[in-house]
Amino acid sequence: MIPLTGRTTTSHWLHPRTDVWRVASTTGVELSNQAILLAPGAVPPRDAGLYLSPDQNTTGPGPTLHLPAQLLHLQPGDVIMISDDGTRVRVAWKAEAVHNSILLTERCDHYCLMCSQPPKDRDDRYLYERAKRIIDALPDVARALSLTGGEPTIDPNAFLALLHHIATRAPQLSTHVLSNGRRFNDRGFIERYASVPLADLMVGIPLYAAEPGLHDYIVQAPGAFNETVKGILNLGAIGAATEIRIVIQRSNVAELTELTTFIARNLPFVNQVALMGLEMTGLARPNADLVWIDPNDYRQELRESYYILSDAGIHTRIYNHQLCLTDRDLWPATVQSISDWKNDYPEICKPCKVKDRCSGIFTTSGTRLSPNLSPVLSN
Ligand code: SF4
Repeated sequence: MIPLTGRTTTSHWLHPRTDVWRVASTTGVELSNQAILLAPGAVPPRDAGLYLSPDQNTTGPGPTLHLPAQLLHLQPGDVIMISDDGTRVRVAWKAEAVHNSILLTERCDHYCLMCSQPPKDRDDRYLYERAKRIIDALPDVARALSLTGGEPTIDPNAFLALLHHIATRAPQLSTHVLSNGRRFNDRGFIERYASVPLADLMVGIPLYAAEPGLHDYIVQAPGAFNETVKGILNLGAIGAATEIRIVIQRSNVAELTELTTFIARNLPFVNQVALMGLEMTGLARPNADLVWIDPNDYRQELRESYYILSDAGIHTRIYNHQLCLTDRDLWPATVQSISDWKNDYPEICKPCKVKDRCSGIFTTSGTRLSPNLSPVLSN
């Protein structure tokens, strides 16, 4: 687990010229948004806009942030966001991480029973603009990006403007958008989305049940199922890359094979279906009785669902599942999908022979873990 936030102390502090900075080494090429990471014995350039000091007694020749212990993992190529007064730092991009995501809004027209990021109804349009500054600060080697919310398309103009910005400034990025899909039901929107000149762009859309009432109940939004399915069909019609995400939970596990059969019959053009384990954070905690289920209790449903989809020729992956709770024949379809900053392996995993292939657990799930975790002692 990598800490992504920390409180700092400052020297020579001035109001910074931007809130987003790329971390650079003392020999890095200077750009206006590069923060020079001071190193023992190295002479830093004199006119950088910001210096980062790993120790409390060393100060650069200009505004300096003294990093707290939990942020000493910062390396050249990372991107950070700082508060105006320089007292708080948040990591926006970890160069060595497999998963990097940018939050575009906390607003959403769903209120899912297990939402990990409960929506907030407030004006946060500045987040789309900050996302552009993060894109501008990315190193050239950046390859993959997720755009999340809330619902990223809640402000369709700001969302599409951001995609065009990525196409201009970082066209090499493989960009994945996590959306509830309803906006893609809008004809005018889908035409504008189709014109985004990004070569590698995919939208991932959750679908929780084949029965409209059950999907609408899980997302707490009447009419959502019809709009979401029409949105997926519209994406198929324009040939856009689309993923369906199914978060498996107590309320839909009995209907899981019905849902995967529905997808195999009606939405077989999608590029991928992800069968996902639940993260017990956000609204999942107060709704634990409605949503929590031990993955060990739905092995059979997971297996049947996987084969319904893969037998229909749909690329199917299993996210967030521990190998010891998953049938061996499904292991090749499992993905180490939990973001580095919230991923860990509890003590019981220590002797496990397949730990390096296993997703491990969400640290955000607290103590809500399967009692059936058990180390695999043969490969
Ligand atoms: S014991 Fe831990 S590492 Fe091993 S399969 Fe289970 S969760 Fe994964």
